[in-house]
Amino acid sequence: MVLALAASPFLSQAQFGEEPKDTTWKRIFRGSEPKVNDLVHTKLDVRFDYDKSYLYGKEWLTLKPTFYPTDSLLLDAKGMEIKEVALVNGTSKTPLKYTYDGQQMKVKLNRLYSKDEKYTLYFDYVSKPDELKAEGSAAITDAKGLYFINPKGEVKDKPTQIWTQGETEANSAWMITIDKPNQKTTQELSMTVPAKYVTLSNGLLKSQKKNADGTRTDYWKMDLPHAPYLFFMGVGDFAVIKDKPYKGKEVSYYVEKNQAPYALKVFGNTPEMMQFFSNKLGVDYPWAKYAQIVGRDYVSGAMENTTATLHQESAYQNNRELADGNDWEETIVHELFHQWFGDLVTTESWSNITVNESFANYSEYLWDEYKYGKDFADAHNYDDMQGYIMSGSDKKDLVRYHYHNKEDVFDAVSYNKGGRILHMLRNFVGDEAFYASLKNYLSTNKFKTGEAAQLRLAFEEVTGKDLNWFWNQWYYGSGHPKLKISYNYDLPGMPGMSEVIVEQTQKSGKVFILPVAVDVYVDGNKSRYNVTIDAQSDTFYFATPTKPEWISVDADRILLAEKTDNKSEANYIAQWKYGKNYLDRKEALDYFAKNNMPEIAKGLKDKFYRIKTTAIQKIASSPYKADPVVLEEIETIAKKDNNARARAAAINYLVKNGDKKYLPIFESAVNDSSYSVAGAGLKGIVASKPENALTLAKKYAADAKGDLGKEVNRILLAEGSEADFDMISAIYSNAPLSQEKVELTEKYGKFLEKVTDLSKIKKGIDDMMVFRNAIPAQYRNFVDPTFKAIFDKISASKGKEIEEYVNKVFK
Ligand SMILES: [Zn+2]
Repeated sequence: MVLALAASPFLSQAQFGEEPKDTTWKRIFRGSEPKVNDLVHTKLDVRFDYDKSYLYGKEWLTLKPTFYPTDSLLLDAKGMEIKEVALVNGTSKTPLKYTYDGQQMKVKLNRLYSKDEKYTLYFDYVSKPDELKAEGSAAITDAKGLYFINPKGEVKDKPTQIWTQGETEANSAWMITIDKPNQKTTQELSMTVPAKYVTLSNGLLKSQKKNADGTRTDYWKMDLPHAPYLFFMGVGDFAVIKDKPYKGKEVSYYVEKNQAPYALKVFGNTPEMMQFFSNKLGVDYPWAKYAQIVGRDYVSGAMENTTATLHQESAYQNNRELADGNDWEETIVHELFHQWFGDLVTTESWSNITVNESFANYSEYLWDEYKYGKDFADAHNYDDMQGYIMSGSDKKDLVRYHYHNKEDVFDAVSYNKGGRILHMLRNFVGDEAFYASLKNYLSTNKFKTGEAAQLRLAFEEVTGKDLNWFWNQWYYGSGHPKLKISYNYDLPGMPGMSEVIVEQTQKSGKVFILPVAVDVYVDGNKSRYNVTIDAQSDTFYFATPTKPEWISVDADRILLAEKTDNKSEANYIAQWKYGKNYLDRKEALDYFAKNNMPEIAKGLKDKFYRIKTTAIQKIASSPYKADPVVLEEIETIAKKDNNARARAAAINYLVKNGDKKYLPIFESAVNDSSYSVAGAGLKGIVASKPENALTLAKKYAADAKGDLGKEVNRILLAEGSEADFDMISAIYSNAPLSQEKVELTEKYGKFLEKVTDLSKIKKGIDDMMVFRNAIPAQYRNFVDPTFKAIFDKISASKGKEIEEYVNKVFK
């Protein structure tokens, strides 16, 4: 799963690393669910009631005792109306006794069953996801399992869709199962839907049958076992775009019809990813097909349902958005890699989610490195590491047997930190051993479950190394090292030697064992040493015939750590000269900028766009910002750079410079295919000719997303008049659900203060409430004060009628 925060960053408290006040959970050990019965096969026959948002289900569930004989069975079935529970004997059925509390069903079997004795139960039930209650009393929005989107077609211009979201234990809101990750079952699923819709589920579509009542029944079959949380159904008016098959297996994309022209551009690297990961892992893509579908109002970022990944709408990007780079590709990679790590070998318990999520996270690095180069991957690695450090999750173990809520384990530790740990592990054992170990883990545990210990054993078997220390430190422990690194070159009585002191300053007192490479640069020659940092304070000596230009500790830049590296100016100049890694160059650039050194301009010639954009941004606040040579270089980037982000950064720089001679550059940029370049261009034109701002904003409004959209919206909301109300209302309403939209709401509020027509103001308030109500309930505490302040201001300036209207709608 990719969390929603990747695209719409409403962060929860847990994701910020805060702990809930009730701490009784700290005493509860959350191991894997004890197994009494094993799922074997699930056969479902479902149809949908769009008026009531109900699912009518018939289910045949085959199980067997796990080991000990048993005469009863505990099943998950959330918020259902149960009509029939029976034992299937050939063609006849025997009713069974059961109790049901709205969450779980306890079934008494007709006799004792022993190990390997299969039995099949039959259920007739109604699933009512919209009537589900959470622990409190409010209807829940985030674990309904089954979601009806615009089911009665009441919302104009919004498609009618159905999709499901199982992880963690929500599929038992629409199917009766043992909803735990340590269960696996094969699957047959018949969906009866209005004939105009297409369906998607796990496995292969085996047959379709038209019914007399205008419906069609699609029969999907999944021959290989997988966990209940990976079951999926999707129904809607989708275009199905077929890509090149992977080894004869269908690779397809289910998108809304107006998105069909872009599907291959957004998802089209999927076959190459399947090939790349199959080769690297030595385990071929294991399932019968691979489909990806985009769902409206999806509650998470993306989900790796076996053979049928579901993405949120952020996946949709047009050609101009793609000109700035495919922002969704790492998510596409992440979910695909889960087909091995998560779906083929599944975490045994939510406590061990690292064996799913840390791998999916790290696959983003692997793909970036292969497809876009090491700089690109290293920049992503750095961003993800910062994401973990900023989350303040120092005290959480990676394998976490104690948690408040099972959803809490989907955080920056399981994802970002876990991915960085795999990066260190790969560096430590070497590439060949890393992939051989992954192959070993996957082959040994396929169609079964895994926990972190099995991963360790797989690595130990391949490498011959005992890796308890690594697992104890990173998997079963918390925190990360904070390193203070110092250098001495003139050691009394030790000519020709240099000294490096590494101190671990983390407050926890925990001492980390850190194998790293140290590169020593003397007279332009590099010598590599492999050392292990393993004490609170370590001192290393290196032979240096003359004073070294630079000693690079953690030379491969793999450590998950915060560093205070006491290098000199000369060291940083050498680091820029010799350093090959993204972080070598980024750090040197940061140092040049901080110390106002002219070397900052060297970044403008770097091969990687992110170094270039960093340099451009830092030069803007440096003493060299008006240097003619610097300006000329930035002008060249603005006009000619191959990378749209670099061009946009350079144009934004020239906008700030304010010289009217750049106007032709802005006028050309505003028509660039990239929204970020066009947005910068528009900013430039408006800065030169502010009187044209509103006319230009209206001209470009028809196709304005990304940075261009932001600039257009800024102008329209600031300068638009009452006559522009309909357009501004549409712009606001169409802006995607995100943190940024909260800021847009404030601007919209200011605009409404200028409007006099009360019906328009009410419409504007309605627009805001549509957004506010689309924000998941758990985040409303964070945003409601902002909405209240906006509404108060509008009410204050417009009087009683509006005040009463606000009181009526804002609850
Ligand atoms: Zn994931």
